[in-house]
Amino acid sequence: MKALILEAYNKLVFKEVPDPVIENDEVLVRVMACGICGSDVHGMDGSTGRRIPPVIMGHEASGMIVKTGKEVNGWKSGDRVTFDSTVYPLYDWFTLNGHYNLSDNREVLGVSPGTYRRNGAFAEFIAIPQHILCKVPNNVTFEQAAMVEAVGKSESVNTALNIVRKGGTAVLVGNTSPLVEFPLQQVVTREIKVQGSCAIRGEYNTILELIGSGRITVDDQISAVAPLSDGDIWFEKLYKKEGNLNKIILVP
Ligand SMILES: [Zn+2]
Repeated sequence: MKALILEAYNKLVFKEVPDPVIENDEVLVRVMACGICGSDVHGMDGSTGRRIPPVIMGHEASGMIVKTGKEVNGWKSGDRVTFDSTVYPLYDWFTLNGHYNLSDNREVLGVSPGTYRRNGAFAEFIAIPQHILCKVPNNVTFEQAAMVEAVGKSESVNTALNIVRKGGTAVLVGNTSPLVEFPLQQVVTREIKVQGSCAIRGEYNTILELIGSGRITVDDQISAVAPLSDGDIWFEKLYKKEGNLNKIILVP
């Protein structure tokens, strides 16, 4: 298959690579759309340490099932799907307690932090465990379905803590850098509660329904839909902050 592979830091190459091989509980998905995440752009230069080359990045994707493993139930070829970006173990303590996004052994698609390497969706095909799949409603396009994972432009922690009312809770979602300056006095004197929120925990189907019904619009956040073969050009534009680009969707 063809894939956009991060061969070295800041070096994306569109080339032929072996097709993914599916496990018994996995399906093979033909990728129809994959969004470029801020974490991919920041990861590309090695600054986050979470995209150690070589790796195929990309975790905000949708597509169509073309093959199913022997133990796959309830999914078939032709199904339109999207998927959580987190591959979590089913019998981890956190998963069993409803917090799979905090599971110790979770892996993220398109990420290689040194302890594992899991290729992502900037490719023609990707292998996906059945338990992270979600059906895409007929009235939602593949491009829209690739927008479900919706962390947008992150405001600074300081702004969030300044605008929350006294005694309120600031939920921190985006994390573009591992450490930030923390306004300790604001938090103490205004009795602010700080709550972290990591990745996704079961929100996909709700978001897909909201997109399908038109209650959430995502089309206006898509700056361009471009061929995957031009991926390196779009990554460079985003990296250099050229233009006022929001989400770029790449199509294999
Ligand atoms: Zn993302």
